[in-house]
Amino acid sequence: MGIELASRARLAPLEEGAPTVATLCSHSSLQIFHGARQEGYRTLGISVGTPARFYDAFPLARPDSFLTVPKVRDIVHEVDRLRAERAVLIPHGSFVEYLGPEAFGQMDVPVFGNRAVIEWESDREKERVWLESAGVPMPRRYATPEEVDGPVIVKYYGAKGGQGFYLAKNREALRDFRPTGPHVIQEYVLGTRYYVHFFYSPLSDRGYRVGHGSLELLGMDRRDEANIDELYKLGAQEELLRAGIRPTFVVTGNVPVVLRESLLPQIFDVGARIIERSIELFGGMVGPFCVEGIMTEELKFKVFEISTRIVAGTNLFISGSSYSDLVAPGLSMGRRIALELKRAQAEGRLAEVLS
Ligand code: ATP
Repeated sequence: MGIELASRARLAPLEEGAPTVATLCSHSSLQIFHGARQEGYRTLGISVGTPARFYDAFPLARPDSFLTVPKVRDIVHEVDRLRAERAVLIPHGSFVEYLGPEAFGQMDVPVFGNRAVIEWESDREKERVWLESAGVPMPRRYATPEEVDGPVIVKYYGAKGGQGFYLAKNREALRDFRPTGPHVIQEYVLGTRYYVHFFYSPLSDRGYRVGHGSLELLGMDRRDEANIDELYKLGAQEELLRAGIRPTFVVTGNVPVVLRESLLPQIFDVGARIIERSIELFGGMVGPFCVEGIMTEELKFKVFEISTRIVAGTNLFISGSSYSDLVAPGLSMGRRIALELKRAQAEGRLAEVLS
């Protein structure tokens, strides 16, 4: 038996019958509903206002029913209805972000994965403690501008999508920087970005063993980020600034990538360290997570961020990826979640994958 994350009271509704897979209609919801339906689950879409018409265009992913709320924050008033529906909430980036990490963490409805991870991920300082103490290589951090000895990226706390990040080629260039809030000065890592999609199963007893379970690599993407990705066309950041345009990193889409096979040991090592430390710190992260890093020309992977739930880059792989096809054919992250739920149900181990 592994670590139990959920109390009996929390999971009581699920004793009455099969769970309903529920999530907020946004982000990766099409994939989540599609994967759940493939495994025979009923699905519930939580929609802010009238459900978006595009769900009608995707019959294999349209949820069986909708729960409409006036505002995302109103979801907290729907706990009784969600429990009556035997809902299992699947967290995704927008769900947790829009509802607020605190409100999401407190909802008395079963959630897929360990909700204790939210407080470790939503605070950049705590996230750094977690990753550094796990021995994961990260970009250097400068305590003061005087220490800077190379290119840097200045990040504001809670600036989603890299809004307002500031790039400086060197210490000189940083002199012009006027901070507008709490921020960190980080080494700007030169290399190629990879966003690695992992799934950790605490139930599995085969494969790449980590903790009591196993780690699966299901895909990889790179994010298209406006307007910085267009920078090369202008030659340099200064050109953008001269044109009166502040560089931004607003994600507009995703492209699939694969890594040189010889780099896979490094990637798995990073994933395993993150999981092992999470088990020590807060009982373990369960299910999908994404390691976001940069591979340098010395072939060293430096991690600048992790997402502790399904990321939108997995939407590329609804019918499988170059990696997930080697785990099981046609395996999306959405379907992987449903399979874990199914196994936990069959083995009476729901408390190990839900919280
Ligand atoms: P989100 O929440 O949308 O993931 P964020 O605001 O938390 O974004 P990060 O993910 O940390 O910001 O960074 C946004 C982008 O900035 C990255 O996708 C990457 O392109 C770039 N970036 C971040 N850190 C570094 C770094 N140390 N070196 C080079 N580029 C970086």
